[in-house]
Amino acid sequence: MSTRQDNGPDLYAVLGVDKKATADEIKKAYRKLAREYHPDRNPGDTAAEERFKQVSAAHDVLSDAEKRKEYDKARAFGGLGGAFSTGGAGFDFADSGIGDLLGNVFGGRTGRQSRTGGTRPGGAQQRGRDVEAEVTLSFRQAIDGAQVPLSVRTASPCNTCSGTGAKPGTSPIVCPRCQGRGVESQGQGLFSISQPCSRCQGAGTIIEDPCPTCAGEGAVHTTKRYRVNVPPGVKEGSRVRLAGKGQAGRNGGPPGDLFVITHVPPSKVFERHGDDVEVTVPLSIAEAVQGADVEVPTLDGRKKLRVAPGTKHGTLQRLRGEGPPRLGGGGRGDIRYRFVIEVPEPSTDEQRDAAQQFGDLFPSAGRDRLFSED
Ligand SMILES: [Zn+2]
Ligand SMILES: [Zn+2]
Repeated sequence: MSTRQDNGPDLYAVLGVDKKATADEIKKAYRKLAREYHPDRNPGDTAAEERFKQVSAAHDVLSDAEKRKEYDKARAFGGLGGAFSTGGAGFDFADSGIGDLLGNVFGGRTGRQSRTGGTRPGGAQQRGRDVEAEVTLSFRQAIDGAQVPLSVRTASPCNTCSGTGAKPGTSPIVCPRCQGRGVESQGQGLFSISQPCSRCQGAGTIIEDPCPTCAGEGAVHTTKRYRVNVPPGVKEGSRVRLAGKGQAGRNGGPPGDLFVITHVPPSKVFERHGDDVEVTVPLSIAEAVQGADVEVPTLDGRKKLRVAPGTKHGTLQRLRGEGPPRLGGGGRGDIRYRFVIEVPEPSTDEQRDAAQQFGDLFPSAGRDRLFSED
């Protein structure tokens, strides 16, 4: 039994988070690392790419409550087996399903090992990994939808070495530094800190004779260029799924999906609030007092709004169904106009007189209430 090997890298260490990290903390750590090691930022840097894969894989498991529970359980058992080393009394990951889980997540690494051992000739079908890409749109494009160019680097298993990364006729060997665990620990016992192994970058295996085609990576990279139709109504952080546009499957498995994450810089005029947008409309005191017809921007041009006499500061008025299209749902949100009353500072005698006169005619109606305690 190979508990240590199947134990795999410590996914928490990969993301640099605590075992008790909240979903939010995991997401944040993932975003930070994914950005840092993204292949677009580190062209040709295979170490960064490997790290990127691990980070994505760790996130796949830890962001899914169900998978995370299963992983924690398996790790707890694995830890016990290692600590007491009772010889055969350990917990076999192969039976728990976690081996498969990690195999899938780590791009078939565990599967790869068993394949080189000859237990799974041909290998099982495996769905390709999902790929994430980011695009930045203008506010207008986000409202209207847009066709944007996108290049996505995807990896498919190398044919020369069948994805092992080792020169045909040779096999990867268990990493001598971490004995295949993929992590190194510093400190002792419960308070040790684990981090991905510096020798094997967390893979658990190293390749002494790299495959000449893929230089030991086990994968060949292709950049695919798409024109992505971003549907109308996306906002900052929307995830648009393009089915089947992710990484190619293994052994005839289906391809993964491509998730496009949209970035939309805020508009100076239209402030996004869920499915609605809000526009701040300044009113002069006179307009607020007497009422007025004011011209306001909409998403489709200009419109006149009737402001009632005596409109208060902060009043909201809605144009229903004239907001942004609802992403994936029917209809449109609202535009709401928030009236704010501008208070000028008089600078001429004429203005001071007018303000005096206004004050005489409209004294504060509410301030007396401050002194009636009933
Ligand atoms: Zn190692
Ligand atoms: Zn190869």
